[in-house]
Amino acid sequence: MLDKTLTCGKCANYHSTSGMIAVSDVGDNGDWFGSTIKNSFNEKKYNSINDINCGGPQTGYANIRMYVNNGQKETVAHSCLTKLKDNSNFVLMKNTLVKNIIISKSDKGIVTVNGVNVHTSEADCSDFSITANHEIILSAGAESTAKILLQSGIGRAKDLCPNTKQVLDLNVGYNRIDHIRTVHFYIIPESNNPPEVQIVNVTARLAAKSEKYLKERKGYYSTFDRSNLQLAVNLHNKSSAHPDIIYNFMQYDQCTPEFNMTCKNYGYKQEFCDQLYRANQYYSLLVVTSTLQEPKSSGTVKLGSCCDPLAYPTINTNYLTEQHDIEMLIKGIEELNEFMNTTTMINNGVKDLMINITECNAFKRNSEDYYRCYIKYFSNGDNNVCGTAKMGRYYDKDAVVDYKMRVMNVTKYPNTANLRIVDASIFPTITMGNSPCVSFAVAEKAADLIINDRLPKYSEERRRNRRDF
Ligand SMILES: Cc1cc2nc3c(=O)[nH]c(=O)nc-3n(C[C@H](O)[C@H](O)[C@H](O)COP(=O)(O)OP(=O)(O)OC[C@H]3O[C@@H](n4cnc5c(N)ncnc54)[C@H](O)[C@@H]3O)c2cc1C
Repeated sequence: MLDKTLTCGKCANYHSTSGMIAVSDVGDNGDWFGSTIKNSFNEKKYNSINDINCGGPQTGYANIRMYVNNGQKETVAHSCLTKLKDNSNFVLMKNTLVKNIIISKSDKGIVTVNGVNVHTSEADCSDFSITANHEIILSAGAESTAKILLQSGIGRAKDLCPNTKQVLDLNVGYNRIDHIRTVHFYIIPESNNPPEVQIVNVTARLAAKSEKYLKERKGYYSTFDRSNLQLAVNLHNKSSAHPDIIYNFMQYDQCTPEFNMTCKNYGYKQEFCDQLYRANQYYSLLVVTSTLQEPKSSGTVKLGSCCDPLAYPTINTNYLTEQHDIEMLIKGIEELNEFMNTTTMINNGVKDLMINITECNAFKRNSEDYYRCYIKYFSNGDNNVCGTAKMGRYYDKDAVVDYKMRVMNVTKYPNTANLRIVDASIFPTITMGNSPCVSFAVAEKAADLIINDRLPKYSEERRRNRRDF
């Protein structure tokens, strides 16, 4: 944690200053965007939370802490793997994919994992197998992990390819959960543009933004679309400490070149991206996402091909199939409307961007039916996918791994399984807020479990210091 305000005082115990990945408060650049939104929060009397991870209430508004170090995004690959690269017992293969796990099953039905088959596109290299002496840790993420398990014969018989022998009948690829969010668009009057956006020539404006970033590591490119503020509310119980909807606020400066691409990446229809793009030619846009934290809809991950092990899996998201999720998102829009109608927002000239959606035009604007229609066109997953190989008790018919992250019914040594899953696929339910930090916690826990299982006499001190590579 680089944010000094959080590393002392009563919350200090919740944060480490020596971890491998940087977390920091990217700040609000002191511009119109941050101050106006904060003033509106205050007008609505939302709590201000300094530290969302300090055991206190998590409803209210807070600065978003990001994996950012001096204006630069940090990734696990960069922060952790590069530190390991010179270790003699660490090998990293690039451009290489695991196709399946090599599994044997004895006459007595004992299942053992022996290695993996991999495909590589590295020059002078062809597909090969890797043998495991002890165990295999599968960490391919919630969608690829399910795919690899299914390609290895672990899953429901109906989900396996005809030429794959079923070795374990487990509920792989079900329970795919993600947060669902609806996106709302507003226009910001030109007079509120930050100084660098007021430069009329677009190329000169981009140069000014780039210069600010390169010289000071500040400004537009040091954050994610100027988004530094988050509002978390509980729509059922306003005094609850736990949010069921989280709003994120982003600003796309007037004539943002990448806006069209971002719009398409969200998966919106071209006709709507065209409307948004045109509006962005004249105005900066305030984009607000309202994200449902505990969606009830869940989907599936199945194999996309029985011929090509490298083919993408077939993902059925099933978003919005549960009425609960739609009703919650509608409530979320109503709450947001109140926020957007504060005196601060009105005085600052922030206005709803009226997108022309033919089907929804049949309904009165701002009615429940209109929102129900709007949600169909402007909702998408929030990329926090989890749950496809969920952890559970041995009697839970849907569980794929046990409390030690071991795939059920795989054994090698007495009492020790030799196939573990260590990624977001094991989350039994989705987290509140983004998922990566929980994936990190799962990995930390897995490291402890592996050390305990393999080296029961490993001293407590060594265990505490095991980051000393
Ligand atoms: C588009 C997108 C944007 C996101 N943005 C944010 C964000 O801004 N903030 C945030 O907090 N979270 C964000 N997330 C969520 C975050 O990335 C995930 O929660 C987190 O990465 C999950 O960790 P994981 O270990 O389960 O899987 P991953 O991080 O996905 O790790 C899986 C790894 O396995 C590798 N892999 C996959 N298949 C194979 C194979 N067959 N063989 C070998 N290797 C394989 C992958 O290349 C990857 O490196 C985003 C996710 C996505 C998809």
